Amino acid sequence: MSKSLFRVVVFSTKNYDQIGLTEALGRSSDAAPISFRFLSSRLSASTAELAKDAEAVCVFVNDTVNSEVLKILHDKGIQLIALRCAGFNNVDLKAASELGISVVRVPAYSPNAVGEFVAAQLLTLARKIHKAYNRVRENNFDLQGLVGIEIRGKKAGIVGTGKIGVATAKVLKGLGLELFGFDVFHNQEFIDLGGQYLSLDELLSQSDIVSLHCPLNESTKYLIRSETIAKMKSGAYLINTSRGALLDTQAVLDALYSGHIGALAIDVYEGEGDLFFEDRSGAIVHDPILAKLQALPNVLVTGHQAFLTDVALRNICNITIDNLSNFYYQRPLKNKVDPK
Ligand code: NAD
Repeated sequence: MSKSLFRVVVFSTKNYDQIGLTEALGRSSDAAPISFRFLSSRLSASTAELAKDAEAVCVFVNDTVNSEVLKILHDKGIQLIALRCAGFNNVDLKAASELGISVVRVPAYSPNAVGEFVAAQLLTLARKIHKAYNRVRENNFDLQGLVGIEIRGKKAGIVGTGKIGVATAKVLKGLGLELFGFDVFHNQEFIDLGGQYLSLDELLSQSDIVSLHCPLNESTKYLIRSETIAKMKSGAYLINTSRGALLDTQAVLDALYSGHIGALAIDVYEGEGDLFFEDRSGAIVHDPILAKLQALPNVLVTGHQAFLTDVALRNICNITIDNLSNFYYQRPLKNKVDPK
């Protein structure tokens, strides 16, 4: 493939992706001769045909890369899927491997971006900043109903103590929280921060704040459902910046109504695929669960923006250029996603 252009179709492009990838390509001294085609469309079975006349596609969290899409991409000659994110739950890795399509990702771009966002979500809910912000904009300076809680000394349960879990733990430790962790692997960095590993049941029953940082897979889908919610401390806060389907959202909604969950912050949502990353303000959104969540004063919903910082974007773009160039020059793919 060397010497010819390496044509890459970028799906789900936002302005910041186009600028970031173009600048990163310009900055790199050993990049492949990449030619980007930027598309705003999400990748799906109905848009996969747009990947014609290219060797690679570059996709994001809500692009669909299932076996049907992969077959179309394969027929078009696509050899590489470059994810510009860490999670890969939207890719059928087995189908990609069978078709000989490699998958690379950006395993870490700024865990701290998400860690700081969790602190922002927590403090917003604890001090009712979202309520205060709206009130003051209408010159309503009444403080009734704005009594907050102080979080120093509270117990934070981190589920998944990998890169983002530890980055979150560092920020929360700085705010004076005690740290509990649950993970299938124990991370020495978390222990060195003073974190204490517990079983999931113990963590849920002892934590004032539960923050989810494990990937979405068959074993973690609906990790938080009615039976695990019942084990949570009454009035505990729940924060999810990982993937929407870690929560059985209806069960969480029921627990918010009963008061068993004291507050909820979600940056990800099970039904986000057809909603997030677009302006839907003029549309009728048919999602009764989301509408009910939005109506509650102790719920904060954001549209998958925890990753979105200056540092993270620069890293995502630099690493994506590296991943594409490594494939083009047949260098080892250090960020290849193992189908196993
Ligand atoms: P990571 O691989 O470094 O850490 C994940 C941790 O989860 C690992 O320690 C792993 O052992 C653990 N884990 C796996 N299965 C588990 C289980 N069943 N129970 C408990 N722990 C389990 O990944 P990371 O970089 O920390 O990212 C975590 C997740 O955050 C990603 O999978 C992604 O879904 C999400 N994410 C969201 C955003 C956002 O903008 N909202 C940004 C980046 C990543």
